[in-house]
Amino acid sequence: MGDFFVFEIIPDMFATSDGTRIEELARISGNDYCADCKFPDPTWASINLGIFICLKCAGAHRSLGVHFKVRSWELDTSCWTPELLHYISQRGNDFVNSLFEHDVPRYFLRPQDEKNSEAIRLNFIQAKYVRLEFITRKYPLESLSLGIQISKLPVFVSRVFAMPEAAKIGFFQKIGANSGKWQKRLFTLTGRYMSYFREDDDSFPVGRIDVTEAKLGFPSESGNYFSLKTKDREYQFLLDSSAQMIDWCHAIRRAKIFYSSFPSFGELKESDTFVSHFDQVSTLRLIYSIVHQVC
Ligand SMILES: [Zn+2]
Repeated sequence: MGDFFVFEIIPDMFATSDGTRIEELARISGNDYCADCKFPDPTWASINLGIFICLKCAGAHRSLGVHFKVRSWELDTSCWTPELLHYISQRGNDFVNSLFEHDVPRYFLRPQDEKNSEAIRLNFIQAKYVRLEFITRKYPLESLSLGIQISKLPVFVSRVFAMPEAAKIGFFQKIGANSGKWQKRLFTLTGRYMSYFREDDDSFPVGRIDVTEAKLGFPSESGNYFSLKTKDREYQFLLDSSAQMIDWCHAIRRAKIFYSSFPSFGELKESDTFVSHFDQVSTLRLIYSIVHQVC
């Protein structure tokens, strides 16, 4: 992780402290909310990025690797050299986010939105600063002294990612409506419908949820749970990993955004087979790609 993401060396931190000035920088509009999760009055700073962040996001930054350096501007009094304060004053939350959050897809889970924020927070911060999924190529990145090698940036395809996936399939658990117990089921997401099957060779699902009419939620502050609430019922799901949980939630949000925008697309009839529906959605993806010139 991060082998192509090398920041400039920050000047050594041995000069006199200047607590007043770092406090002034922290009060500037934009810096008064965490750059990543928007928590108010953040008390930490990323000194490689030049931004103000909250305690929880500082922990996530620290886990990204040795180039990510965080300090508490309340507790660390000896590191704020004039050079470092100048560096932070040239950056700040608004400017750095105009670069690193230039193109965040609407479906992408952000930590401030969700109750179960820790897995979502880490995924968002990794996507933002390590995988560079939301970055713009408009700015001459070298001039920002961030040391990113342009040739190693990911292909800029986030508009494609905003589309629904053609089809998604996987095993995870849901709470049975009658038993109240966790049951492993096969799930598919095709078009606007998430269906679940008792056995993987069953032809017909035992249940189907129209994701455009369901509200995605997180019933727990930890663990790999998510829920879908319809007007009749609240479904709860448990997945094997946070990566799998986020992957399914993103796919559901993509489908919800897309099929809410184009309600007549992807209508699944009872007579449709999985394969015919897959073909239909693939065709729609192609049309969408041409219309939006994302091919
Ligand atoms: Zn935060």
